[in-house]
Amino acid sequence: MTVTDRFLNYVRIHSASDDKNDSEVPSAKREFDMTDHLYSEMKELGFSGVYRDEHAYVYGFIPASEGMEKEKCIAFNAHIDTIPDFPGENVRPQITYDYDGNDVLLGSSGRVLSADMFPHLRSLKGQTLITTDGTTVLGADDKAGIAEIMSACEFLLKHSDIKHGKISVCFSPDEEIGHGAALMDLDRVGADYGYTVDGGEVNEINFETFNASSAKVFIKGVSVHPGSAKDKMVNASLVAMEFNSLLPPDEIPSKTENYEGFFHLTEMSGSTDSAELSYIIRDHDSDRFKEREDMICSAADEINSRYGKGTAKVEIKEQYRNMSEVIGRDSEPVKRAEKAIEKAGIEAVYVPVRGGTDGAQLSFRGLPCPNLGTGGYGFHGPYEHITSEHLEKMTEILINIMT
Ligand SMILES: [Zn+2]
Repeated sequence: MTVTDRFLNYVRIHSASDDKNDSEVPSAKREFDMTDHLYSEMKELGFSGVYRDEHAYVYGFIPASEGMEKEKCIAFNAHIDTIPDFPGENVRPQITYDYDGNDVLLGSSGRVLSADMFPHLRSLKGQTLITTDGTTVLGADDKAGIAEIMSACEFLLKHSDIKHGKISVCFSPDEEIGHGAALMDLDRVGADYGYTVDGGEVNEINFETFNASSAKVFIKGVSVHPGSAKDKMVNASLVAMEFNSLLPPDEIPSKTENYEGFFHLTEMSGSTDSAELSYIIRDHDSDRFKEREDMICSAADEINSRYGKGTAKVEIKEQYRNMSEVIGRDSEPVKRAEKAIEKAGIEAVYVPVRGGTDGAQLSFRGLPCPNLGTGGYGFHGPYEHITSEHLEKMTEILINIMT
């Protein structure tokens, strides 16, 4: 089976996670449809130790070839769920052979995949382009990753003359809602290090993520009749706005890129009596990140000095840390990926992730895990697309890493 056929099989399985259910893993029962499909396929292909659990994780491995038992065991991971907030059911992939590099009408949806919005489209000229029909996601995030890992493993299983160490594979649920790595059984995975295959361009290596925390700010006001409020009323909603004005106005998501961190106001509510602001705080650099947390606290101190002690209260919670603390530019997993990409005839690039990855969590749990590309673009919406050529190239890179 080609990697493209395999990919097209997977995207037809509806496996969106459910962001409204954070009490169970998997968050949606339908994720088991992917787990079960992969379980059968891994058995059929001849994986060893194929195992699925009650949380929709599926594991399997390929033993080291003879004489290679002392080599390091490398793990590969991709996630089985797709995003919950755009339809993922009845995916009808639209295939354009010998693509001309211009705009593509997505079915009869009225949506257009435009080369103005996605300038890289011109570079895909001549390839076999796979898009949606405009009504759903494609699911290349992350079924492209799964297809590439499975096809690379199939290649090893069919070519027993090619030497490799032990390969461990784990597909996991609920990445899109942030629970993907938590219940992964690292003893079962049993690897020295690993890779998530869940990024963009095939030559990308990500080993830096944000440091991340959330901050809740509670404002207590003094509510009195507005007619007799002079010098008495403290309107909590107005104080909340004042609080936000104490933060640097240009350090927000819409005005930052690359290594620039930000404060993002995600939610606010308020009355005269009380108000609440929710922020997420992000920065790649751990010192600057700490400074950002301190800025939130100083803003609260300033409010308290203006309106009295106890007016503003801050609660900060750590979410995840930059995995570059665990995986450096010169670490073995990064070097190995770089060599594999170069062997495939392209130059590796290092792109800092403006977010987190399952690999960041895994890295801090003891499995160093940089992230690799899938070759897909426009994730998380109807404009998601990929080409057969990228699926094949990434499969080749994975085989290079394995061998
Ligand atoms: Zn993903």
